[in-house]
Amino acid sequence: MIETKAYAAQDEKTPLAPWTFERRDLGPHDVQFDILFCGVCHSDLHQITNDWFPGIFPMVPGHEIVGRVVKVGDHVTKFKVGDLAGTGCMVDSCQVCENCKQDLEQYCLEGNTQTYNSMERDGSMPTYGGYSNTIVVREEFVLQLKEGVDLAAVAPLLCAGITTYSPLKHWGVGKGHKLAVLGLGGLGHMGVKFGVAFGAEVTVLSTSASKEDDAKKLGAHHFIVTKDPEQIKAALGTFDFILDTVSAPHDFNMYLSLLRTNGTMICVGVPNEPASVAAFSLLGGRKSLAGSGIGGIKETQEMLDYCAENNIVSDIELIDIKDIQTAYERMQKGDVRYRFVIDMATL
Ligand code: NAP
Ligand code: ZN
Repeated sequence: MIETKAYAAQDEKTPLAPWTFERRDLGPHDVQFDILFCGVCHSDLHQITNDWFPGIFPMVPGHEIVGRVVKVGDHVTKFKVGDLAGTGCMVDSCQVCENCKQDLEQYCLEGNTQTYNSMERDGSMPTYGGYSNTIVVREEFVLQLKEGVDLAAVAPLLCAGITTYSPLKHWGVGKGHKLAVLGLGGLGHMGVKFGVAFGAEVTVLSTSASKEDDAKKLGAHHFIVTKDPEQIKAALGTFDFILDTVSAPHDFNMYLSLLRTNGTMICVGVPNEPASVAAFSLLGGRKSLAGSGIGGIKETQEMLDYCAENNIVSDIELIDIKDIQTAYERMQKGDVRYRFVIDMATL
């Protein structure tokens, strides 16, 4: 077993604190890499507080993980010691179901194995995430990263990046489309970057008037403060797509009213409570309400390569791991500019 240092939540009420545990030894198809940086996703906060469902504790969060390979199993072909490596939200899946065979492991019919707060496929032990010094992952779920990039700013691509890239690709969002990105946080700011890169006319819908300058710097063409009824009124019926990244309960009917005829609202944010949606909100204008979960491994690699070629990274605040609780408190208030990333050297 591999002795591992980490920060963990011992239960849903206790702040994260140092913890050591043992990771499994490498199998022939596994890669072990030492973690250099790990992004802080709002999903970490949802899960360590049991906001969605009861979790597996102690819990080591973190699923935006980058580092360097220190050991490879005998049958590993894509990686060698010293290579850069990354892992996102999944570390395994059945690999044989209809969805896995179509590179949609995130929708594995048996359920994918999440990077943390999940059980290894053989049921032997829980999975533990990236707020730790090293990780062992099956080769198929390890992503390749280019040398010479700002690794801390690349880490959030592993979740915030792919979760916004995948739906924009799936729905073919691009030139000629008006895209609204709802919520300017970790996911939202990546949604803006990709929307702009794909040629869409991008509007940020935000509760925070103070984020307007940043939104424009990120490339957004317009900015609407959703708390201002006049600005909302002016935007009624104007968007082809809304990418909804909001982490807390919000009024779906109001946002659906901003779509044009045949428009689609894509939920990627996961509030802890179900939304109430009136059929009238959809039928007037033949609108669609859709959802999207992260992305498959092939598409995640495609997104990482696309970002490397187009100089797209996340805008980050690098933090010491001891400051993680403060980061969560700021995230809870919508005060993220625009992703916290932990420097794992501070562990
Ligand atoms: P984040 O950085 O905290 O950003 C969320 C943003 O939503 C906030 O910055 C804020 O932006 C806005 N917001 C917060 N509360 C709001 C409210 N009550 N009403 C309206 N807007 C509100 O979070 P994140 O890491 O981007 O994650 C966003 C959500 O996506 C989380 O629920 C997370 O679990 C989920 N997620 C889903 C997937 C997936 O596969 N679908 C993957 C990763 C994360 P403004 O200040 O601009 O209003
Ligand atoms: Zn995430």
